[in-house]
Amino acid sequence: MNRKYDALALLSGGLDSILAMRTVMDQGLRVLGLHFMTPFFGKAHLIPFWKDHYGIEVEAVDISPGYVDMMLDGPSQGFGKWLNPCIDCKVTMLARAVELLPVHGAGFLISGEVLGQRPMSQRADSLNVITKRAGVRDLLLRPLCARNLPPTPMEESGLVDRERLLDWRGRGRKPQYTLAEHYGFTEIPTPAGGCCLTEAEGAARFVQLLLHRPRPEPIDFRLARTGRQYWAGAHWLTFGRNAEDNAMIEECLLPGDYVFRLEDYPGPLAVGRPVAGDWAAETIRDAAALVASYATKARRQSQTTGQPVRVCVSVGQRVDTVEVMPTRETVLPWAEPRTEIVREWKKSREESAQPPLASTHSVI
Ligand code: SF4
Repeated sequence: MNRKYDALALLSGGLDSILAMRTVMDQGLRVLGLHFMTPFFGKAHLIPFWKDHYGIEVEAVDISPGYVDMMLDGPSQGFGKWLNPCIDCKVTMLARAVELLPVHGAGFLISGEVLGQRPMSQRADSLNVITKRAGVRDLLLRPLCARNLPPTPMEESGLVDRERLLDWRGRGRKPQYTLAEHYGFTEIPTPAGGCCLTEAEGAARFVQLLLHRPRPEPIDFRLARTGRQYWAGAHWLTFGRNAEDNAMIEECLLPGDYVFRLEDYPGPLAVGRPVAGDWAAETIRDAAALVASYATKARRQSQTTGQPVRVCVSVGQRVDTVEVMPTRETVLPWAEPRTEIVREWKKSREESAQPPLASTHSVI
């Protein structure tokens, strides 16, 4: 049976969300953090660390399918500087949190916004839009800036002591660090918890995928977030850079994928996902040569002996071996996604009367 909580908190893992939760817990209330998972953000493996270091209980909540639909349909409040739909994102998370209130016996919600801290999602008007669209006007407490906002029913009823909430405003971070020190935190997380939609490189990976697959599945976005990405036209190749990437690639494999592994040398695991039909034999060889070029021992041995290396290529149950000279001077123009394509893609959506985009001065 679920333990009862007084409140559920949106917990990105960033410092602000942790401090918001602790501020309410200081009043003797029981709070459960909800850590939302999508292909674009989410670090559920840190939940035990958060409990040990910050004394907070957190549960992972996967909202991938609905979130991806929101992204593909076009966020109603537009994107920020890169591919971050911050206002729609907050609305989506709060709407899911509302559904979870009865599951945990909780009566209200907490989020870690600070008035004026971010241009897109934390302006006063944005906070109002988020509250209204998520239908949480009487349910949402923002403890870090509560005293700059009208009192909520939780404060009016005395359940939460408004005087012990905070009145932060603006972009400065000093109060956050002072409070973190007060709690004795020895490891200070980044402000927002990490979201690759706010990063140029992350956004480019996803836009490159969207250019070739108009409605990718969550698993496609997850693969696009992983390792090193190469594209040649509609041919998509993902390489693992380390054991963690390789494990993620394994989790993302689909039956029609081309899986590349070096037979005789350590090297990256790579996967080619056909987004526009099967690959020609020459394309497979070309990709194998590129994959082999990232295996240092194989590349050196081949350079020394002039002999090719063997790369195993499997598709479902079918397994072939191709012999290639490792090279980055490939026949096809394999290249990593350029960040310029993000602005180009957003502009073309705007021109084709897709849902409106947020103003370009937003920095997050
Ligand atoms: S930074 Fe990312 S996770 Fe945070 S609100 Fe924006 S889109 Fe959502």
